[in-house]
Amino acid sequence: MPARRTLYCLLRASHLLAICWMLGVSVTASHAATAAGPYDQLMARLAEQKQTGRLRVTEVGRSGNGRVIPLVAIRPIATRALPRTRILIICAQHGDEPASAHAALELIQRSAANDKPEALLSPHTRHLLGGKLAGLKDVLWLIVPVANPDGYNAGKRLNGAGQDLNRDWQRATQPETRAVRGVFDTWKPNLVLDLHQWSPDDPPPADNGLEMVLRPESPVQQRLERHIAVSALRAVTSTDRRASLVTASPRSTPTLAHRYFAAQGVAAFLIETAARDTQAQRKALLTDMILVLSNVCASVPADTRAAAFRNSGEFIYPREFASWLRGQQPTQPGRDTGRTLVAAGVAAGFWALLSALHLKSRPTFLATSDEILSEGQT
Ligand SMILES: [Zn+2]
Repeated sequence: MPARRTLYCLLRASHLLAICWMLGVSVTASHAATAAGPYDQLMARLAEQKQTGRLRVTEVGRSGNGRVIPLVAIRPIATRALPRTRILIICAQHGDEPASAHAALELIQRSAANDKPEALLSPHTRHLLGGKLAGLKDVLWLIVPVANPDGYNAGKRLNGAGQDLNRDWQRATQPETRAVRGVFDTWKPNLVLDLHQWSPDDPPPADNGLEMVLRPESPVQQRLERHIAVSALRAVTSTDRRASLVTASPRSTPTLAHRYFAAQGVAAFLIETAARDTQAQRKALLTDMILVLSNVCASVPADTRAAAFRNSGEFIYPREFASWLRGQQPTQPGRDTGRTLVAAGVAAGFWALLSALHLKSRPTFLATSDEILSEGQT
């Protein structure tokens, strides 16, 4: 019977289609379950670190495609006093520059694992700094580990709407720039660090660099920024690593993050990593640079900072946040203090010996207000 045969064939075909559809769905589902993109991996690592209780992760906005833009609040070294230095660190606003996100995660992990300064430092940095990290006890890091979640997930420079976020800070037309500006307005940071990396396609020199904006209308701010930048660069460079200070003219486009934030009256730097370097070398430079810049900025005398930067007065922490911060104390402060004193004694003796031998000194992190603000210091 032709009619019955046709019906039979149709039934067979529909069965086959149903089986194919079910297979397709299950394959897609298992793919989604196993192959998390870079953004999901980053969020999973943050969630893991959050279990330590040492960091706070909040949502400060959503990307154009609806991904959460997280803010991580963490202290590199906890003490009883509330930190006076708040540092905003912006990572991966160009989604194809992942070293900054990796550096942020590294510092979050090191800080969450231990309260002791030595735990924060790689052997390389420890050697470069000689243990002068007292400033870090006065620091709260406000880290945006991925400012461009859609671009980061796709490995692309631009955001989901095809916009370059680092040309959008003045107008803030994108949800991502608006979210980070909201963090700035709420937390009133004293220092803003915007992290990037040169790609091998960029024209030479495409080298490690710290860029600050020359602001002749704010000479005091400019001098202190230069002091911080030069001190940090001296500390992170060595025979096998170079980095330089780049100064941008005030006429250069103010739509870049660090230029926008510098215009708000705070210290703000853009950090680039060399095109020739591996991702691991870039990550190492960025972690060293963040640690050293944070330390130098927090070590500047309070009156000097107040004279040069906005946001340097007293900051009132929200009550709940303040009690959380106070809870982040080292477990054995007495023992730590003893150890610190012994270490300070040993370091002082070693330093006296080095000076006696006329060896080249490492940078000075503490300077008096007069030294920093005098014309001669620029
Ligand atoms: Zn970039």
